[in-house]
Amino acid sequence: MEASHIHIQEQAIAPISDERFDLIIIGAGIYGLYAAKTFLTICPSINLLVVESLPSVGGVWSKDRVYPGLRIQHHSKFFEFSELRYEDVPEIDMDYNGRGYLSGHSWCQYFQAWAEKVGVMKHVRLNTRVQQVFRQSGEEYLWRCKIDDNHSLLSKRLIIATGIASFPRYPDLDYSKFAGPVMHHQYFGERHGELATEDIEEVVVYGSSKSSLDAIIHLAEAGKKVKWIIRKEGRGPLWIVDLKGSRSDVILIRLVSTIFPSPYQNDGFSGLHHFFKQTFLGKALQKYAYEKFGSVLLKEYKLDGPEVDEVLVPVIPKYSPLWNHNISGADNYDTSLYDCIRSGKIEMIRDTITSLEGKSVTLASGAKLTTGAVVFATGFKTTIPFIAEDLAVRIGLPSTNYPEEYLEKWRLLEDEADKRAYKANPFLKSAPKPPPYLLSDPEAGKLRLYHHILPTDPEFLDGSLAILGSFSAASTLQSAMIVSLWAAAYMFGKVELPSQDEMEKIAAYQIRSHQIRNPGMINDLPWVGFEFLAYSVMMLKELGLNPWRKKGWYSELIHPYTCQDYGDLAKEWVEKHGTVESPGSPAPALPKPADS
Ligand SMILES: Cc1cc2nc3c(=O)[nH]c(=O)nc-3n(C[C@H](O)[C@H](O)[C@H](O)COP(=O)(O)OP(=O)(O)OC[C@H]3O[C@@H](n4cnc5c(N)ncnc54)[C@H](O)[C@@H]3O)c2cc1C
Repeated sequence: MEASHIHIQEQAIAPISDERFDLIIIGAGIYGLYAAKTFLTICPSINLLVVESLPSVGGVWSKDRVYPGLRIQHHSKFFEFSELRYEDVPEIDMDYNGRGYLSGHSWCQYFQAWAEKVGVMKHVRLNTRVQQVFRQSGEEYLWRCKIDDNHSLLSKRLIIATGIASFPRYPDLDYSKFAGPVMHHQYFGERHGELATEDIEEVVVYGSSKSSLDAIIHLAEAGKKVKWIIRKEGRGPLWIVDLKGSRSDVILIRLVSTIFPSPYQNDGFSGLHHFFKQTFLGKALQKYAYEKFGSVLLKEYKLDGPEVDEVLVPVIPKYSPLWNHNISGADNYDTSLYDCIRSGKIEMIRDTITSLEGKSVTLASGAKLTTGAVVFATGFKTTIPFIAEDLAVRIGLPSTNYPEEYLEKWRLLEDEADKRAYKANPFLKSAPKPPPYLLSDPEAGKLRLYHHILPTDPEFLDGSLAILGSFSAASTLQSAMIVSLWAAAYMFGKVELPSQDEMEKIAAYQIRSHQIRNPGMINDLPWVGFEFLAYSVMMLKELGLNPWRKKGWYSELIHPYTCQDYGDLAKEWVEKHGTVESPGSPAPALPKPADS
């Protein structure tokens, strides 16, 4: 039995009042545990607790969420921490499929081995869900995390690392009268067995996210007849990208990162940014790359030309995959999506579900489908349910209830940000507009965080709060390493912040740049894709560390970045700045006055 389980049982026996910590981290996924490792390296005496609602660590990659068929979306060299190489854990069953993609199950084992090795497991409390978070102004323990009616955890500092995939978004449908299993894809790991029974022959999968693809392929491989329903007014079908050869590398190559629109152009390669963004030839090359990438994929999958199969027409995305008018996903399956559609194992329908009853699904067109089960692959909410609306607004987290004066202030900031984004990246003027339904979505909420980590409200810039994993990155692992260190340095008062006005302008600019660049993801957390390496340079510079990690400029420009290039950043930071002997209370460098 794991130590953390024993801990939980002991608590159940002894009545506990409020426990106190220097730092609480909510979420034991990649970001939460990497943050724990980083804080323990910088301040070994820190009394920290990672709170996790599931019975195991790993978040999306925990034992409780992985299922057969879930595979990582890149070459495994990009999903390997620098502290532990795959070859150092020979006991792990490295299950690659025929296309070379590692299974979620293997990665889950690797992540657990990594967590043991870096010594964070003894700080994790599993099966513990934070119900609500309160801010206790004026108190030493500023944050109260309510676990149940009788038990809260108090902390001087709080890190929210609940990820982009913790709070399922359901369609507005009453499915209580449906006579079979209905589940959101978040629970597929736990419940996919319910769909395996012989009496379920047909399954409806609703939505066009990457997880819809994971679900339909898994079900088709299991011999089910799948009806894949994508709303007519929605983002439409997603691109799938075969990351064969070195394609997986491209997004983490510095030269490539200078080509595409980016709010982070101060990465030491401003000449290249200027060429690609501001000159006639550079812009023509950007246009060519956008068009070429789309046409190459269409050709590869035989989705272009007059001979294209009629059943495949609804599956063809409208805009280049580089625009992210819908999400793109790696084609990490042994089974071909398009062959499944050709053979009728998967039928794609553009329609909206209006009701579910008995064994039947009714669509807006009036059609009725018979099905044994329904899977909602309808994405995730960006709002965090354990944070009250008014607190969420002040922190800069998405809300469904913004005060008018707040909206007005951010409207002005975002208008200015748009002008700046188009000026810095004129090619963005050719971006497609977001699908209208996204803009009118009542759940539409925007994150307004500085560097995707900090609130901009001065009351919350006291070094006591950071939000990690609030964006999707080209490399989740590299991002976790860098943002964890930046957050720790900030919380110990070692990062210089600009004035509050400037922080708001920067936050608006960063977020709007990502939204214009990825119009289909306007209500998702920001996608920091080709821009990620430049974002890393900005963060490492602010930490006083070398942001260019390759040997020589040629290598810097041409060779893709992996975690190994960063080594142990927290140790490197400690060598430069020393350890923090006592965590004390948060003592940040507050934002500079506006006129400085
Ligand atoms: C199906 C799927 C496939 C993906 N594939 C890839 C991929 O191949 N490559 C990639 O880079 N990214 C992928 N992602 C993105 C994924 O989000 C990241 O890989 C990574 O898991 C993010 O880590 P995280 O720590 O931010 O969040 P998570 O892994 O989601 O961890 C957050 C943790 O917070 C916990 N939590 C939430 N609320 C509470 C609460 N109230 N109290 C206590 N604990 C709480 C959750 O239980 C969870 O364990 C995928 C996502 C999904 C959903």
